[in-house]
Amino acid sequence: MGWMRSQQRLEPGREVVLNQAPFSFDLSVMDLYLALTTGGTLVSIPRGMVQDPRTLFPALAAADLTVWVSTPSFAQFCLAEPTFGAGMLPRLRRMLFCGETLPAATARALLQRFPEAEVWNTYGPTETTVAVTSVRITPELAAGPDPLPVGAPAPGMRVWVAGPDLAELAPGEAGEVVIAGPQVSPGYLAGPAAGRGFVSLPPARGGGTAYRTGDAGYARDGQLFCVGRLDRQVKLHGYRLELDEIEAHLTRLDGVCAAAVLPVVREGRVQHLVAFVVAEPAPDPAGAFAAAQQLRHELGGSLPPYAIPRLIRFLPALPLTPNGKVDRRHLEALAEQRDAPPKG
Ligand code: AMP
Repeated sequence: MGWMRSQQRLEPGREVVLNQAPFSFDLSVMDLYLALTTGGTLVSIPRGMVQDPRTLFPALAAADLTVWVSTPSFAQFCLAEPTFGAGMLPRLRRMLFCGETLPAATARALLQRFPEAEVWNTYGPTETTVAVTSVRITPELAAGPDPLPVGAPAPGMRVWVAGPDLAELAPGEAGEVVIAGPQVSPGYLAGPAAGRGFVSLPPARGGGTAYRTGDAGYARDGQLFCVGRLDRQVKLHGYRLELDEIEAHLTRLDGVCAAAVLPVVREGRVQHLVAFVVAEPAPDPAGAFAAAQQLRHELGGSLPPYAIPRLIRFLPALPLTPNGKVDRRHLEALAEQRDAPPKG
């Protein structure tokens, strides 16, 4: 946190910092500790207000923020309000983003609405204690194409793009983002997640624990670029979701024989999740809505609300590829058909 405090040149005792993320979401560590460690004020937006323009914008204006910390999605939501700009927040000087991709168009719009403010993109998973890279998105960078860089490592941290043997790849080559250094947690309480996670580095690679992020990326000119995931993790409104885990929760419910969960993506962003379920007994068409609601209710016993698929559709069987794997392309097409925006 010290590096971010000094990088952002925050003024002790004078900063008013926005908290948009719930305290259970690691993004909140950035705003909470930036405010606390500079003797500033933290303005927390209550959950109910986050998507209610009638109360949100008057509250933001009254807060007179100097530092904005949020997901890019929340800033995009705010940009839909024409008065969201320097007139509403005249003292705003810094906007810090983390948790998901910051689209260049969003950065451009923010720089236009807040000409006096700096826009920063920061990156890092929970396992490496929030942000490990950062970069100021200048108007020149924002004018360029996506993806924007996520930045250069924090002091003392090593962040590199690796091949399967963890060796650093040449600039421009795509691989997995790996992180080592003091911000890396020692591991999970319940052991490592399957297939990725914490690894011990051999002495030749500096020793210690590194975290394989599962993020696909490349490095160029000392900057890291993220281009997606190597697994089925998605971000929904900034929340990190493992689709495999949601499927596992679904198939544990009574009467569910098989399940596949897919993100519905519009304009490059996950809008919601759809689950395809094979149930025994299969509900008849008239009972499908009630059966889906029942499954959603039961999922609520083990999953937070944002991880529960908005739509659950019943199929007699999951479609398979010639190799016998679940045919996710076919399911994507089915999800598209149902979810297509109205024409005209
Ligand atoms: P979380 O542990 O919830 O903070 O999620 C961490 C994941 O969010 C990372 O592994 C990335 O997939 C994604 N992420 C975080 N920050 C960024 C960013 N600035 N750009 C793109 N993806 C990001």
